[in-house]
Amino acid sequence: MTNRIHDSLQDDHSESMTDEKWQAIIDNDATYNDQFFYAVKTTGIFCRPSCKSRAPKKENVRIFQNTEQALQANFRPCKRCKPTGERLPDSEWVALITEYIDKNYMEKLTLGTLADTSHGSPYHMHRTFKKVKGITPIEYIQQIRINRAEKYLLHSDRTIADIAMSVGMPNTPYFITLFKKKTGHTPKEHRKLANTVHKLEEM
Ligand SMILES: [Zn+2]
Repeated sequence: MTNRIHDSLQDDHSESMTDEKWQAIIDNDATYNDQFFYAVKTTGIFCRPSCKSRAPKKENVRIFQNTEQALQANFRPCKRCKPTGERLPDSEWVALITEYIDKNYMEKLTLGTLADTSHGSPYHMHRTFKKVKGITPIEYIQQIRINRAEKYLLHSDRTIADIAMSVGMPNTPYFITLFKKKTGHTPKEHRKLANTVHKLEEM
């Protein structure tokens, strides 16, 4: 009896978590879609049970019966599974991920962190990204970093190690290897070559 009173006094309209619901969330079980929605306190986002986002921590999850309740509790709809409407097209989703990489290439980026911020499983994100852009997210990150590094080599006197660090590759030998693989010469050669071209132009 006291329990029942306590339940009815919950003012946030969230439902209680059951083993069945939790299982549906970790299995991304689409058969539970529209039966309930789940929100994650740490991200402030709510999803359909089928959303291919990484499994949240159980203690951070709140269950809602409908989207209105979740919105009222100040959760935002997930951009991936769009619980309030149409699903985000793959191309738009990939554009969001690309934008994130462009802004954060100097940070430590892994498939895991990208998947977390874009709200998809690493596997699904990797596949969709490749389908849309023709290269994998990791290849894209490398491309951005090497492009940046090329600019730094041309337009600054910064050391190779310093440049490597500022494009998110603190391991200098690895940076040099990758740079050579992608451009055909080492960073040092690239700088020398560019300076020669410069001098010829000035003559
Ligand atoms: Zn979602």
